[in-house]
Amino acid sequence: MHNINKKKKEYDYLIVGAGLYGATFAYLATKAGKRCLVIDRRPHTGGNIFCEEIEGINVHKYGAHIFHTSDKEVWDFVNSIVPFNRYTNCPVAKAPDGKLYNLPFNMNTFYQMWGVTTPEEAINKLDAQRHDALLSMRREGVTEPRNLEEKALSLVGRDIYENLIKYYTQKQWGRPCTELPAFIINRLPVRLTFDNNYFKDSYQGIPIGGYNRLIEGLLEGIDVQTHIDFNDIKDKWRDIAAKLVYTGPLDEYFDFESGRLEWRTVRFETEVKNTPNWQGNAVINYTDHITPFTRIIEHKHFESFGDEVYQNPKTVISREYSTEFKPGMEPYYPVNDSKNNELAEKYRAKAKEEKDVIFGGRLADYRYYDMAPVVAQAISIAATELT
Ligand code: UDP
Repeated sequence: MHNINKKKKEYDYLIVGAGLYGATFAYLATKAGKRCLVIDRRPHTGGNIFCEEIEGINVHKYGAHIFHTSDKEVWDFVNSIVPFNRYTNCPVAKAPDGKLYNLPFNMNTFYQMWGVTTPEEAINKLDAQRHDALLSMRREGVTEPRNLEEKALSLVGRDIYENLIKYYTQKQWGRPCTELPAFIINRLPVRLTFDNNYFKDSYQGIPIGGYNRLIEGLLEGIDVQTHIDFNDIKDKWRDIAAKLVYTGPLDEYFDFESGRLEWRTVRFETEVKNTPNWQGNAVINYTDHITPFTRIIEHKHFESFGDEVYQNPKTVISREYSTEFKPGMEPYYPVNDSKNNELAEKYRAKAKEEKDVIFGGRLADYRYYDMAPVVAQAISIAATELT
């Protein structure tokens, strides 16, 4: 790293992590006249939104990312860097019975599951299903859902839980639904309209030309060094910059002194197929317990604005396998069960005491964030920090 010993405090901010939080903060700080150095230990910038071009298709290397928000400021901000298309996420689930169901749970799903054709019929069916579930919970003395399973049963009943939630969730988190926090499925709405749009937000899309354009736009003109592990320069960061913005894993910053936080990580098997359209949708979830992967992503559909992508005779798919994180792997999802949350709280309290250090983003907060809240968080921290 060429700058380190050259001049004392050459930078106002050393930003650890070139993901969405780090890049947004660096962009705003630079605009405010601050000097920033962004480092990342991976060979590329972008964190988990990094895309690799294969057969002319932007492949979401670290899993499907669909930007969605109702925050106009955030939407306008990202669109000022790169225009977004209007991709609408409508995932489909392949259930244990081998049939396809629309997600999120809506009139299409209820029709496919029970043959009901009107909202009234669907309400009656859902009510009956919920009633049965609540009765059996009450028999066990449960009045308020205590975990994801009980929450799901009280929301949609047993048919939908068993076919579309239980095994997908267990595969994704590697834990039974009875040991998972209920909030994880808050993002799955229940609708009485024939509306397959997964997200309720006002704005939704993918950067035209891919996510790398967003990150490159944010980091344009800013000093960035990849292949730099913060651990190797931890002791001397104050020689480089006045302040630190840390977006790496929270426990790692403190050398795991109180123990390790658990994460889920994802492994992808990516394959090129000699067909212009392999599964007809960007996301198909496998909600059964026999298929070992959780979903298959067909990347070109994210860019299916107009029909140009289907003129490409090839397509790229990724099978997504969820696994427990081990040191050396990339952490993806924080496991927000009570044990891990308690440990994270301990670290968060310590983080608050750190002088001249800002912690931000999914890894440093140990929170299951979508992209838009990460951008919003960086905008808001920058607003207080840079005024
Ligand atoms: N989920 C589910 N069945 C599905 C899709 C999602 O039960 O077909 C539940 C599951 O508990 C999962 C959560 O919803 O952990 C969030 O899933 P989503 O695919 O939205 O998460 P992402 O991985 O995209 O952040």
